Amino acid sequence: MNTKDKLFKIGISTDDKCVTCAREPETIDHLFFDCCYSREVVKLVGDWLGMPLPIRDILDWRLNMRGSKVRIDMINAAVNACIYHTWRQRNTSRFEMHLLRPQKVADNIIGDVKLKLKGSMGKDDFCEQAFLNRLIGRQ
Ligand SMILES: [Zn+2]
Repeated sequence: MNTKDKLFKIGISTDDKCVTCAREPETIDHLFFDCCYSREVVKLVGDWLGMPLPIRDILDWRLNMRGSKVRIDMINAAVNACIYHTWRQRNTSRFEMHLLRPQKVADNIIGDVKLKLKGSMGKDDFCEQAFLNRLIGRQ
């Protein structure tokens, strides 16, 4: 682990312990890839995506993207939402002393992905709309 990577050294954190697990120094690598909390969130989202990869591979989801445009948009949206919500939970834990359960964070991420996909669907995307409907549980 690169000590220069520690968030506290660049003034973002006041100490070097991860605020979500309190076990390891808080580094960017730890927060987004190695933390047991983040790993659980990503695992839940990966299961929903049908991409239960080793957690280190959240960015590899993009390398393994195959399928329709909707599917690729969904994976991109999920990666972005995982990064955003991980950082948000880190800040909520740090500044508000509150940490959501990993399942709740995963549900929020999945909700964001569904909203993103629904917003990007055109009326001419009938087949993709049907695919999305299946993904989000609508018939
Ligand atoms: Zn941690």
